[in-house]
Amino acid sequence: MIFNVGQSINQKINLPAKYPVELYLKREDAIHPFVSGNKYRKLKYNLKQAKQQNAKLLITFGGAYSNHIAAVAFAGQAQGFKTLGIIRGEELEHKINGNATLTYAKACGMDFKFISRSNYKQKHTPEFIQDLEKNYNNFYLIPEGGTNNLAIKGCEEILTNNDKIFNYVCCAVGTGGTISGLINSASQNQKILGFPALKGSFLQEDISKFVTNKNWSLITDYHFGGYGKVKNELVSFINQFKLEQNILLDPVYTAKMMFGIFNMLEAGYFEPGSKILAIHTGGLQGIAGINSILKNKNLPLISY
Ligand SMILES: *Cc1c(COP(=O)(O)O)cnc(C)c1O
Repeated sequence: MIFNVGQSINQKINLPAKYPVELYLKREDAIHPFVSGNKYRKLKYNLKQAKQQNAKLLITFGGAYSNHIAAVAFAGQAQGFKTLGIIRGEELEHKINGNATLTYAKACGMDFKFISRSNYKQKHTPEFIQDLEKNYNNFYLIPEGGTNNLAIKGCEEILTNNDKIFNYVCCAVGTGGTISGLINSASQNQKILGFPALKGSFLQEDISKFVTNKNWSLITDYHFGGYGKVKNELVSFINQFKLEQNILLDPVYTAKMMFGIFNMLEAGYFEPGSKILAIHTGGLQGIAGINSILKNKNLPLISY
C-alpha cells in the first residue's frame, strides 16, 4: 500500500509475579491510526486484486462504528479508488455528523448508502449483488468485515518466524478471518485461542471452512453482550490497562481478549513458563463512537 505503514513490534506486558508466564502484545495497532491492525492485513491483497481487475470503485458493508468502513475509506482514497459504504441502519443517514467513524469515512471521500437492518441481512445474496451490478460499474466488492480468501492470505503475514517461540497466540474474533490466517501460519505446536466479541455459535463452523489445522479453540466467555455493548467493568479495565502498561485497547475487540487473558491467568489456565503472544488488532478509531454512547448514558468514559 502506498501510505506509510507503522511498525508492529512485540511489546512485553508487565505482569504481577504471581503469574508465572510471559505475555507479549503484538502492536498491529501501530500500523496506522485508521487502517489499523487486521484491517490493513485484510485489505492488502484485496486492493491488489481490485487494481488488477481495473476496478474504479470499492463497495463494502458495515455498521455505524465499523473499523472496516474507516479502513476502506482511507485505503481506498490512498490508492485512487472511489469508495461506497453500505451502512446498516437507515436512521444514520441524518446522523453522520454525530458519528466519528462515518464523519471520518466521509472526509476520505466515501459515499454511503444507508439501508434497513432487514435489507442489510440480505447483503450477500445473489439478488442484492445483482441489484448493485445494475446500479454501479467497474466495482470490486469486499464483504462485511473484509473477510475472504485474500484477507486470510494477508492475515497469514501477521506472525513472523520470531514468533515461533510462543506457546499461545491469542486474538479477538469478529468474522473469523484474522484467526484463520493465524491458524494457517502458526506452527503445529502452538495453540491459537480466539476470543469472540459477539455471541453465537456460527464462528466455529465459519473458521473451520478456512483452516485445516486443529490446534485452535474459541474462548466464548468474554463477549460482554456483543459488539456495541460496553460494560462499566470493561471501561475500567481499559483505563487501568492504559495506566499500567501505557497501551490503549479498543472496547469492541482487543479489551475483551485482554480481559479474558487476565481472567485466565488468575484461574491458572496457562501452564507455568508459557509464552503467550496476544495480537493487538487495532480498532482504536472506534473509541470516539463508543465514548459518545457512554456520555449519553452518563457513564464513565474511556480515557485516551
Ligand atoms: C475487525 C476486527 C477484529 C475481528 O477480525 P475478524 O477477522 O473479523 O475476526 C478484531 N479486532 C479488531 C480491532 C477489529 O477491527
